[in-house]
Amino acid sequence: MNVARVHDQSYVTLATNENYALGALTLGSSLRNSNTNRSLTVLITSQVPSPLVDQLRTVFDLVELVDVLDSNDSANLALLKRPELGVTFTKLHCWRLVQFSKCVFLDSDCLVVKNSDDLFDNDEFTAVTDIGWPDCFNSGVFVFRPSLQTYSSLLTYAVQQGSFDGGDQGLLNSFFPNWKRASFVYNMTTNASYSYAPAYKQFKDSVRIVHFIGAQKPWYHSYNLDSGSVMGNVTVHESELINQWWKVFVDNVLPGLNEETVSRMSV
Ligand code: UDP
Ligand code: MN
Repeated sequence: MNVARVHDQSYVTLATNENYALGALTLGSSLRNSNTNRSLTVLITSQVPSPLVDQLRTVFDLVELVDVLDSNDSANLALLKRPELGVTFTKLHCWRLVQFSKCVFLDSDCLVVKNSDDLFDNDEFTAVTDIGWPDCFNSGVFVFRPSLQTYSSLLTYAVQQGSFDGGDQGLLNSFFPNWKRASFVYNMTTNASYSYAPAYKQFKDSVRIVHFIGAQKPWYHSYNLDSGSVMGNVTVHESELINQWWKVFVDNVLPGLNEETVSRMSV
């Protein structure tokens, strides 16, 4: 089947350093494997090493260099006094992608396990409940409409109100209080799988996007190439999901990495 491509809509992710770039490469490959008909965009900063930027170009249609902080307008200048909002601010750059009419943002620690293009049937602002505080959404997956006006309002809001959790999730939850809820299968946070094991068992086959929240990202785990499984201290539920991430990484990303990058990982 020849699926018509939709050029004015894109998945968007962000990587500000080498580790998150490995995440972005794996996410991008998982999107390709899902046969998406949307374009793929990654926002990067100058800290991403150039061999990885070259590899990102082979997976993503658009690799967009953004500044962590630039000082073209007064909101940005004010943010210079709030360095703790730096990474948060970087995610907001996605609203500047006005060549697209609609986008789905995905954290680079997400893995698409089934085609998720029907997320684009939703409008700004659609997201999935956060399992830590279910009245909030998790900001790892959301549908938005690029707009310079929204971008500027978000910056002004960030400077004036800050973020109640110091990150993008607090800021976006305050800014979009009337968000619409998408099914949990579009942002299945990994720790939910053991906090509610029966539900995970019941619904895991319908999961579309897995999100590896928290400090222990899949790329920090050691992986045994021969057995095809992660090593060390992980729960059974987690290891199943982390193995899935590593399978995509080993098949699609690892062959393109240089030795220096591989030597820094625990493969
Ligand atoms: N991110 C990044 N560099 C960083 C931290 C975060 O590029 O140093 C981006 C990346 O896309 C990441 C997202 O911001 O997935 C949100 O951070 P993270 O996923 O670590 O937060 P969590 O989902 O664990 O709350
Ligand atoms: Mn994340």
